[in-house]
Amino acid sequence: MGERTYSIITTDPLYSPTPEQQQAALEFFKIVSPLPNARGGYCCHLSKGVQLLGHDYESVTCPLCKTRLVFFEKESGERSEAGHWWDKAYEYEKDYQPIKITMPCCHTKTQIIDLKFDPTLAGFTKFELGALEPNGSEYWENEEECPYYGVWLKPEVIAKFEQLLGSSVSQLWQS
Ligand SMILES: [Zn+2]
Repeated sequence: MGERTYSIITTDPLYSPTPEQQQAALEFFKIVSPLPNARGGYCCHLSKGVQLLGHDYESVTCPLCKTRLVFFEKESGERSEAGHWWDKAYEYEKDYQPIKITMPCCHTKTQIIDLKFDPTLAGFTKFELGALEPNGSEYWENEEECPYYGVWLKPEVIAKFEQLLGSSVSQLWQS
């Protein structure tokens, strides 16, 4: 099994926490996941541009008409038309520009960063905080074992991160 990274991301794609807020959140994360893990260290990163973090997302929801665009055909598993549309749109996204794209569902233009993914799988953000294979504590939903893929921090712990960062956050596991 590959190593996995757990991340907390701010959910407003354009939000930048202040250096003080970032530091406070990092200090709290060190309490939540206290021991150095295999590679040591934590990730606390504010990028200049908006990044798409996450993986395994198979669909995205149009912010305008709320159509869920699925990237694979149900029967064959082949890349769908929406999938091809996304591959093209995503190439631009790598430039980290909040570009406008035309939606295949309702043919209106929208900012790519306004597209909505399943928040447990992916999201547009500037800020990421986490660790590779974080270790456990009573702050995680599963207290007995180390956190593993799909185990989340308790809601009250997430509320604390939101307070420290001044923004709503979501949790992701990335391989
Ligand atoms: Zn639409």
